[in-house]
Amino acid sequence: MTVTPATSQTPAAHAVEIRDLHKYFGKNEVLRGIDFAVEPGQVVCVIGPSGSGKSTLLRCVNLLEQPTSGKVVVHGVELTHRDVDIDAARRGVGMVFQQFNLFPHMTVLQNVMISQRRVLKRGKAEAERIARENLDKVGIGEKCDAFPAQLSGGQQQRVAIARALAMNPALMLFDEPTSALDPELVGDVLTVMRKLAEEGMTMLVVTHEMAFARDVADRVVFMDGGVIVEDGTPEQVISAPRHERTKTFLRRVL
Ligand code: ADP
Ligand code: MG
Repeated sequence: MTVTPATSQTPAAHAVEIRDLHKYFGKNEVLRGIDFAVEPGQVVCVIGPSGSGKSTLLRCVNLLEQPTSGKVVVHGVELTHRDVDIDAARRGVGMVFQQFNLFPHMTVLQNVMISQRRVLKRGKAEAERIARENLDKVGIGEKCDAFPAQLSGGQQQRVAIARALAMNPALMLFDEPTSALDPELVGDVLTVMRKLAEEGMTMLVVTHEMAFARDVADRVVFMDGGVIVEDGTPEQVISAPRHERTKTFLRRVL
């Protein structure tokens, strides 16, 4: 008799897995049962009208918001489990916001070193080396000694990206990273994001930049009213949407 192992192969862990996620603010149900997954190395763009719950969804992925119910699993760690070490789990997730949130009284270099020192307990020399590497990577190495107010919005956002990357995240979340920028500064930030994607970074990106979503995303998710209306390749969702709500949204933004 041959013995078949019960599990011959463990399925590869999703980078992010979200199951039946609900989020209320008071009586307002903002996320109404979200299910989706991001695979390692994938770039997923989330699009949808203002107020549809995109930011709340992203914030539930690193527990800046506590989900009301449902499951959020990041790299095999269930963040919604009551015994989870939230700080440890968050360490693997980088987040870039619409507002760059740099410390105004610190130089660019200090901004990229501070969390490495405080959270990862890296020594000064190592933190500085990693900060410089990442600032070079986002094309801003020569601004190490500048203060945020001396930089353009696009440069500040690239510092914010370098700061997140310096923590060696396995997943990067971007919430409308170019929405606060003057139009001529958007391209530099998108170029950095495109490079990250090409290097294989797993990325979940809320954006209104349809050209970026079409060119860079492996998948596009369209949200409306706290649900995912459509989830597919950029060709499917942007070029050939099936749902009327997606069509209406795209007519307005394209
Ligand atoms: P989007 O990012 O798609 O514009 P949000 O996730 O920011 O949408 O918001 C979805 C809904 O949740 C909106 O109606 C918003 O007013 C509400 N909301 C978001 N954050 C909070 C909060 N902290 N408290 C109360 N309501 C909130
Ligand atoms: Mg938002």
